[in-house]
Amino acid sequence: MKKISVIVPCYNEEETVNLFYQEINKTINSLNNYKFELIFVNDGSSDNTYNIIKSLANEDKNVKYINFSKNFGKEAAMYAGLELSSGDLVTIMDADLQDPPSLLPQMIDYINNEGYDCVATKSTSRNGYSFLRKTFTRWFYKIIAKISKTQMVEGARDYRLMTRQMVDAIIKMKEYNRYSKGLFSFVGFNTKWIEFENQERVAGTTKWNFWKLFSYALDGIVGFSTAPLIISSIIGVIFCLISFIMIIFIIVKTLVFGDETSGWPSLTCIIFFVSGIQLFCLGIMGQYLSKTYLEVKHRPIYIIKDTNIKIKDE
Ligand code: UDP
Ligand code: MG
Repeated sequence: MKKISVIVPCYNEEETVNLFYQEINKTINSLNNYKFELIFVNDGSSDNTYNIIKSLANEDKNVKYINFSKNFGKEAAMYAGLELSSGDLVTIMDADLQDPPSLLPQMIDYINNEGYDCVATKSTSRNGYSFLRKTFTRWFYKIIAKISKTQMVEGARDYRLMTRQMVDAIIKMKEYNRYSKGLFSFVGFNTKWIEFENQERVAGTTKWNFWKLFSYALDGIVGFSTAPLIISSIIGVIFCLISFIMIIFIIVKTLVFGDETSGWPSLTCIIFFVSGIQLFCLGIMGQYLSKTYLEVKHRPIYIIKDTNIKIKDE
């Protein structure tokens, strides 16, 4: 009998975990020719999430938990789940039921009967998210589409079903600054996209604020494109050319008309402008340098405090 692993990253989800458990069990019961393992990853919650997950695990042998030593972020939680999963098919779902388990039978069907390696989902709307978030998300996808070779699908969710082969390929990418939407796309394989109407959270609140999302977007850009570096070099070249022309212009002007000391306000403006550009470009370099810096340290992506999954020795 084939096994399906369901990975559920949880960060302060005490209000939703039980609701999720009930809902996923409806789907599990309808798919009685599969074995299931539910892997709840407690990402350093400060509420009661851990105890709820643990008591589920005591009652149901299919429930596994991974308890992090602190909050490492959703990316780390997904990675830990993928690494410790053992299913032939693996799926990732949010605990807040924004990723409907009821889609699972259809997704399994695509992989088993139509030869896909992965079924990914995207939501058709962003109802329930703030205007600011919607606007910036749209901008992000426009920019990344232009500057990255890795294709990112707008509205894509992390909810997807993958074959073991694809999961193993993703696990091999051990980078520290993880941007899964890019990584899933990078590994390739045959992916079927299905759409669904965006669901609102069943309970609790979103764990993302503007700055968290902003720096996540930067991870996406810096991780999957080096175009900003090229753009900053081009800006540098353009400004060199402009200053070169200006120098010649000033020399000629001084030789022909003599030197009169005027024009310092415009000079100040130019200095401000050019040093602004310089700092901006330096900032871009800094972004890449800082990501490289974090990468070369080879810090672990997550640290497990306790789990009921047997960890294979490396
Ligand atoms: N999550 C996590 N660690 C974090 C932030 C979020 O494991 O640092 C989990 C969270 O518990 C949920 C999923 O990631 O299961 C998606 O989070 P959320 O619903 O807050 O995001 P949104 O739907 O607003 O994008
Ligand atoms: Mg959510």
